[in-house]
Amino acid sequence: PTGNPLRKALAELHSLHPDQVILGNGSDDLLNLCARCFSGPEQAIGVATPGYSLYPVLASLQGAPVVEVPFEPDFSLPADAIAACPANLFYLTTPNAPSGVCFPNETLASVLQRFPGLFVADEAYADFAPHDATPLLAAHPRLLVTRTLSKSYSLAGLRIGYALGSPELIAIL
Ligand SMILES: *Cc1c(COP(=O)(O)O)cnc(C)c1O
Repeated sequence: PTGNPLRKALAELHSLHPDQVILGNGSDDLLNLCARCFSGPEQAIGVATPGYSLYPVLASLQGAPVVEVPFEPDFSLPADAIAACPANLFYLTTPNAPSGVCFPNETLASVLQRFPGLFVADEAYADFAPHDATPLLAAHPRLLVTRTLSKSYSLAGLRIGYALGSPELIAIL
């Protein structure tokens, strides 16, 4: 049930420690786990809009309010608004769906320095992008990066997702 051989392989793939990897039944399972651990009626969930339709569903399951932060007109990241978002947990699809925009790691780092809650970078489409947020993990213990085998690996039916984060965060999940 711990999936340790796969955690070890994924840790090697990302040059991390197996303690920094958690497996899920698809990454939707892990996104749900984040909502269960870090949101509730008094702990809002922030989302950038337009975005993945699952996030508000996960919020409603926990009775958590949703704070919507609209993208800029050119679909770039509203970094200041996300940093100031009154939420305990923020979900960002990066690279983004539906816009296809990939956000610079410098911009994500500026959000991570200021946003005080758990920041989830939902990287379902990372394999199609020129870069990803995993280099930010070392300096940002409140960052969780979620990945899935459903898109670039065409294995949606197997329901395999994983998340990368600090050992403390992975232990909580
Ligand atoms: C497809 C997708 C997921 C998760 O898919 P799983 O099959 O549950 O791993 C998560 N986020 C986004 C934005 C997606 O498009």
